Amino acid sequence: LQDDRIARISSAIRLIPDFPKPGIMFQDITTLLLDPKAFQDTIDLFAERYKNKDIAVVAGMEARGFIFGPPIALAIGAKFVPMRKPKKLPGEVISEEYTLEYGTDKLEMHVGAVQAGERALIVDDLIATGGTLCAGIRLLERVGAEVVECACLIELPELKGRDRLGNKPLFILCFSG
Ligand code: AMP
Repeated sequence: LQDDRIARISSAIRLIPDFPKPGIMFQDITTLLLDPKAFQDTIDLFAERYKNKDIAVVAGMEARGFIFGPPIALAIGAKFVPMRKPKKLPGEVISEEYTLEYGTDKLEMHVGAVQAGERALIVDDLIATGGTLCAGIRLLERVGAEVVECACLIELPELKGRDRLGNKPLFILCFSG
């Protein structure tokens, strides 16, 4: 049953208060990775949603989008494109800045990895303010891709990141516990 799978996934995610700083409740997905059944169910649930949707690209955000994105990409027959922090990708890149609580950060994508007109899915572990996913959407749209949906395991709804995505669909597997 789908609900049983989601309950098991949710309970496999560990909450660590005051990490990396006071007041932050960190959602630690490394404990989910220790439970192969729950990890497999996570990938299966995303794959069931996105198979047969003509998705050519799964874009994953550094770093935890690199854990969930590639198995989803393989399961649906799409390519995987990493979106990385600055100065990590060796080839020619395009970059997009996004705002953090204090200051800004950047995400980069290789030029030539994604073609105009390709249908893309963006994967990350969690949406907080939505800044990271927004930068990913802008990178893909700059090269003419069609962002079909953003998919995360967890949403922190009180931060209203969803509103920042505008009309872009957001799919959440579990809700923050
Ligand atoms: P944002 O750009 O504000 O939506 O932040 C999302 C990114 O920050 C994701 O890549 C998350 O992995 C990470 N993140 C933000 N808040 C948390 C949290 N409470 N627990 C775990 N990861 C977080």
